[in-house]
Amino acid sequence: MSTLRTYLQLLPKAELHCHFVSTMRPETLLELCQAHQVQLRTLDLDSLFDYTGLADFLDVFNAAHLALSTPQEVARVAYEGVEDAVATANLRYREYFVNPDNFVAGAFGRPGPGMDYPTVIDAMIKGLGAAERDFGVGFGIIIGINRSLPAEAAAELVRTVVEHPRAQVLGIGQDDLTPEKSEDPLRFAEAYRLAREAGLRCTAHVGETMAASPQDVVTAALELQLDRVDHGYRVVDDPQSLAAAKASGLSFTCTPYSTVMLSGWELTADHRIARMVRAGLPVTLATDDAVFFKTDLAREYVEALPAMGISAPEATAIARQGFAAAWCPEQQRQRLLADFDGAALALGTALL
Ligand SMILES: [Zn+2]
Repeated sequence: MSTLRTYLQLLPKAELHCHFVSTMRPETLLELCQAHQVQLRTLDLDSLFDYTGLADFLDVFNAAHLALSTPQEVARVAYEGVEDAVATANLRYREYFVNPDNFVAGAFGRPGPGMDYPTVIDAMIKGLGAAERDFGVGFGIIIGINRSLPAEAAAELVRTVVEHPRAQVLGIGQDDLTPEKSEDPLRFAEAYRLAREAGLRCTAHVGETMAASPQDVVTAALELQLDRVDHGYRVVDDPQSLAAAKASGLSFTCTPYSTVMLSGWELTADHRIARMVRAGLPVTLATDDAVFFKTDLAREYVEALPAMGISAPEATAIARQGFAAAWCPEQQRQRLLADFDGAALALGTALL
């Protein structure tokens, strides 16, 4: 391995855009599916995540949700996900999206009672808390609005979040697509208003694919008063939108391999993430849906960044931005940044 690759792998990392279920170990997915008689297209891990179409992907995605049936399993998956990312990518801090609506009775055809909001969140906190004690990796949870559900369900979800306060729940986001297969972030404005009123931070998946417009990114950021933007790639396709995004100072959580999987974009110097970096937007790097897209945080740094022509200093700034844009308490954020600066300096001196 080249010294640059070693440097990128060893840099301390914060990940701000990963969906909880997607941090599941592939072997654990198989084991839990078998334990709960959840059908998979194949039991061969080499081909399970190769999709010939959307149906193949949804098959595995749904199965992974159904496989998580108990709080103990949620806690186990939480712990293992940290353990793996520490070993492979030097993960130091992570914020997780979770869609509580995906765990209730009937979701994905879930048999039995399902798990309610506090059950899922407390199980995550238990597993992630154990991992924090063992590996020193801090964490936060972001409640994801599932856009396939009506706006009123999103508002109700935020009311539930506010009724069950947890220090580890830092904010809300929105993902998936509407029944019309659009992003339409403003549809959920009421949920965002309630969240801000309760002191929660706000982010949203927006401007991810060609189906969205550059203006959509800026409109969502302003109207929903976002604190961060997930994806947002389309913003570089319009100078005015790009200027507005820069002026906002908002950080973007970018996920290279998910753009390859979902949009077929090639990882070259023309990739929108590379253009965002060159334009001076605060970019952070993440996996999005690691297990389903056969990626991990190390690969996003070691493979994707060099493929997009990102230099070592730019990669260092991207890694640092992951800590700078974190929503953890300020004292913790400052300590993470100081630790990062020390480690990056030592690694750079030794390897670059
Ligand atoms: Zn995502």
